[in-house]
Amino acid sequence: MYIYIHIPFCHNICSYCDFAKIYYNEKYINKYLDALKKEIQLKYKNEIVKTIYIGGGTPTSLNIDDLEKLLKITEVFNKDKKIEFTIESNVELSLDKIKLLKKYNVNRISLGVQSFNNKILKILNRTHNENDIIKCINLLKENDFNNINIDLIYAVTNDINIVKEDIKKALNLNVNHISCYSLIIENNTMLKINNYQNIDEDIEYEMYKYIENMLEKNNFIHYEISNYSKAGFESIHNKNYWLNNSYYAFGLGAVSYLNNIRITNTRNINKYINNDYETSRIKENKKMQMENEIMLGLRMLKGINLNTFYLKYNKKLEDVFKIDDLLKDKILIKENDHIKVDKKYIYLLNEILIRLIN
Ligand code: SF4
Repeated sequence: MYIYIHIPFCHNICSYCDFAKIYYNEKYINKYLDALKKEIQLKYKNEIVKTIYIGGGTPTSLNIDDLEKLLKITEVFNKDKKIEFTIESNVELSLDKIKLLKKYNVNRISLGVQSFNNKILKILNRTHNENDIIKCINLLKENDFNNINIDLIYAVTNDINIVKEDIKKALNLNVNHISCYSLIIENNTMLKINNYQNIDEDIEYEMYKYIENMLEKNNFIHYEISNYSKAGFESIHNKNYWLNNSYYAFGLGAVSYLNNIRITNTRNINKYINNDYETSRIKENKKMQMENEIMLGLRMLKGINLNTFYLKYNKKLEDVFKIDDLLKDKILIKENDHIKVDKKYIYLLNEILIRLIN
């Protein structure tokens, strides 16, 4: 089984953020952790756990005692020996917190770097700078954290030189996983309210190709639209989402997928701390499950395993979705029992999915 835990607190709110988050507030934290513990006790059935992913928010914004309380909560899980245990963090991560994470066997850190460029960081309303990033990575490595992801955001402005510089600096950090997301201006974010505009689409595509080329030249494997890793360092936790398999998700706004039921938790902190956890439970029918399988699975460069699809749904993928024309156009490729999007076109996945599903 795979576990996601959401910690919604942040000291600072980023201009692009539409996640379930609230300003750091001491008054809520203890109650939140108590409610979280109770939610886990209520729902977790002692399955063996292959991954834990603590995301947010900023889980490491908790003070050291609260962070320890959170990590202690995770001791209830029946952990596989080879567990991948990830926590998200900002780069303002202190040595005592790093040591605490080590003590509780966290073995993967995902850092919100976003950019090295001050102008971009300011637009995104991030409070760190390039020195903080380098200092944090060094501190993690000195304390034996070698499985590190950094998140980057591109397409914030039309200036491709900033992206080139960011990629060069990211490579210099010598980490083994990089996630690169293009900026999306979501509703109810500061960017949207301030009427911030998307950049030119052709420049955005040029940036995407530049990132892919540079990372591949430096031994990163492009394994999912936005994700690159060194061999053997793909995110096991995220791959489980793209394989459309089950997972628990605990915490504010978290969404679980269990026995084909999508369970959505409330984004209202007052309800959550009063143990009123869920807002909906939707049982997905076979059609919905198969559509999710294809929408998520084609995000991976390796594509979808046709045998697994048949075993799961008792139907052949090619009998459910309109793949013939896309195969003829060489947009989809059938290879080694998999169906995948040709790498040249994966950037256009949304358009491809429309052709497949409608
Ligand atoms: S740190 Fe993450 S969750 Fe918090 S405001 Fe920024 S993007 Fe949102």
